[in-house]
Amino acid sequence: MSGFGDFALSPLVLRSIGELGYETPSPVQAQAIPPVLDGRDVLAQAQTGTGKTAAFALPIIHRLAGRGNPPKGAGRRIRAVVMVPTRELAVQVCESFLKYAKFATLRIIAVYGGVNQALQVRALRHGVDVLVATPGRMVDLMEQGFINLEKVETLVLDEADMMFDMGFAPNLNFIMDRMPEKRQNLLFSATMPGPIEQLARKILKDPARIDTAPERTPLEIIDHRVSMVPREEKADALVAYLRSVELDRAIVFTRTKHGADRVARILAGAGFATEAIHGDKRQNIRHRALAAFKGGYVRVLVATDIAARGIDVSGVSHVVNHDMPLDAETYVHRVGRTGRAGASGAALSLCAPEERKLLLAVERLVGKRVPVLPYKGTGRPRGPVVETRRPFEESRLPGKGRSARARR
Ligand code: AMP
Repeated sequence: MSGFGDFALSPLVLRSIGELGYETPSPVQAQAIPPVLDGRDVLAQAQTGTGKTAAFALPIIHRLAGRGNPPKGAGRRIRAVVMVPTRELAVQVCESFLKYAKFATLRIIAVYGGVNQALQVRALRHGVDVLVATPGRMVDLMEQGFINLEKVETLVLDEADMMFDMGFAPNLNFIMDRMPEKRQNLLFSATMPGPIEQLARKILKDPARIDTAPERTPLEIIDHRVSMVPREEKADALVAYLRSVELDRAIVFTRTKHGADRVARILAGAGFATEAIHGDKRQNIRHRALAAFKGGYVRVLVATDIAARGIDVSGVSHVVNHDMPLDAETYVHRVGRTGRAGASGAALSLCAPEERKLLLAVERLVGKRVPVLPYKGTGRPRGPVVETRRPFEESRLPGKGRSARARR
């Protein structure tokens, strides 16, 4: 496959991706677009940042736009549904669809929780072709009679593993029970744990199987490091690390909302333009923080896992795990924020002695040891003492000299 022109995509789709500057299909696009165009079911293991949105959006737009103009207003029926786990992802997938469908006359909207439903209801009343939705809000709106799924032709389950982790399986069953049984199902998941395999067996008919993981996983192109840091020194270590690297944009992960706020305050105090996003923040504030981060006004985004899942920001140079993730798959999702679209990135995990078990779980999943970036401590055991040592050895920082052999 050399270019998008080799797919049987309509000119209006090719025009929009041409304008966006996409030249070569990514591996997931090369493998998924032909079967989706043929109307087949697809089971794809692909992570965010691999171009999977276009992999399902382009053929869906091609097929829907190729049927002439549907009736206007309420007579227009939802023909494609994309289920996603988080509001951020709903907004992002919807924005991508709108970009790809720039030259088609399709109505594409997103419905998600955390905001007043009135605008979403009004948009639904105007008629919709493609609906992007989070499961909770979708069920709410269906129960109120605002959404009719009788004419759905294609269902996409995006980030299916995350939807299961978040407990959305019953909502998804409710939703699928109200769609025509004869439809195309596309299931995308970063990982394929047992429940996802079972779901795939239940709903997919003779699916095209796509696994882009072995291609160039984020895990391979990212410089991963771990520093053993006592819990009480983590904030100091984080500040020291961010000061010592060539920082473009960084995402710092914390386990709790409270932790995100606290770390953001410390970073702001240390002079970094910082914002925190998590589930307790109002939706418009999260939007604004994300926009500022995308725009480069905010250099460090502190986030909890759920708030950050699926966020697509290019140019994230560093990911720091202030807290070790509770499971290894979350590690993969977190570090997948950097090293996108082939660019390399760096990921540092700050691991307290009591978190060692979690580090071992990560190493088991990744299949190798994570090299150590030696951390020597701040040299101030207690009280406001001047820094006496450099916390990180400069020569061992990614991009600053040869890397050290792992020692722990
Ligand atoms: P996704 O995995 O769908 O979130 O896409 C990741 C990023 O890659 C997005 O910013 C897309 O705009 C971009 N992208 C997707 N497909 C291509 C492509 N074929 N060429 C260049 N950029 C792409």
